[in-house]
Amino acid sequence: MKRDYYEVLGVAKTASEDEIKKAYRQIAIKYHPDRNPGDKQAEEKFKEAAEAYNVLHDPQKRQQYDQFGFSGPSGGGGFEGFGGASMNMDDIFSMFGDIFGGHGFGGFSGRRAGKPQQHRGSDLRLKVRLSLEEINQGVTKKFKVKKDVVCSHCHGTGAEGGSQRETCPTCHGSGVIVHTTQSIFGMMQTQGVCPTCQGEGQVIKNKCKECDGTGVKKGEEVVEINIPAGVAEGMVVNVPGKGNAGQRGGINGDIQVFIEEEENDVFVRDGNDLIYNLLLDFPTAALGGEVDIPTIDGKTLKVEVDSGTQPGKTMRLRGKGLPAVQGYGSGRGDLVVNISVYVPKTLSRDEKRAVESFKDSDNFKGDNQTKDSIFSRFKNYFS
Ligand SMILES: [Zn+2]
Ligand SMILES: [Zn+2]
Repeated sequence: MKRDYYEVLGVAKTASEDEIKKAYRQIAIKYHPDRNPGDKQAEEKFKEAAEAYNVLHDPQKRQQYDQFGFSGPSGGGGFEGFGGASMNMDDIFSMFGDIFGGHGFGGFSGRRAGKPQQHRGSDLRLKVRLSLEEINQGVTKKFKVKKDVVCSHCHGTGAEGGSQRETCPTCHGSGVIVHTTQSIFGMMQTQGVCPTCQGEGQVIKNKCKECDGTGVKKGEEVVEINIPAGVAEGMVVNVPGKGNAGQRGGINGDIQVFIEEEENDVFVRDGNDLIYNLLLDFPTAALGGEVDIPTIDGKTLKVEVDSGTQPGKTMRLRGKGLPAVQGYGSGRGDLVVNISVYVPKTLSRDEKRAVESFKDSDNFKGDNQTKDSIFSRFKNYFS
């Protein structure tokens, strides 16, 4: 007894084309033979769903099914999948092109017969070393790249002197061959890429002499690559279509640019923040005043320092760090100023005298060194 097609897909009689497609997709993935090797029940469910989909996704067949049921229209021609003859696995796999858009059916053998394969050129990898200034602004770099380019002699067709390509005699243009093998679970059908045409569905009799029928040649190209601002060491910028040319009119590969970062003399990078170590002179630390802080875009910022500023203090200058890469967060990082205080290494005689005069002042002593400090009281206790 056959189950109702709507019931098989678990959709309502009023279901839209999209709902039918979605429902079938789920069932097909769940019960796909590649996922359930040797499971006869899964295979039956897989076939049942495929048959239901085959009828319901076609408006004409669906209407007839709605009207007449499994028997088909009286006197009408037989429909595959209606009533008698079940679909074979080949038919089922050939539907996947529709439902899975020709790709995304990762790892499964289902591919659409009759839509031959296109070659994709391989990706190229480049490394680029950038300064922090370049990272801050974004930069365009030119590379001379050795790569496969389209053969100019045959314009990428692979055929000599404008000769034509012919339908592959092995697969008759489908690019696919079907193997039937006997296993303990019964006859199994698997599909493979046609070995004669490598899945292209066509063969070249008279190969181009320049490229030996591949449609590509070794060549060189100057490629301009825009690197967005804010990238960081280890990131990869993908440049679609700039890699190796695909064979015989295929799709170009990509260029992947691996980012390396030069060390900077002034700033240390911390994500999108920049760290600047300020060595503050002693008088300004004590008296307060204005200091010059460099920024990554080359300008100098005047920043006010409080009197009595201690080493180890940090200041955060909002938005003066690096920009975020497009699509990864927003806004700019900060410029973090870490303050330490510079102690003179040499002093003139006058300076020495002046500093000596401060020596006994408690104001110049650290908090734990004054007469009132715990340390002093502790010392005095024993004396
Ligand atoms: Zn050629
Ligand atoms: Zn073939």
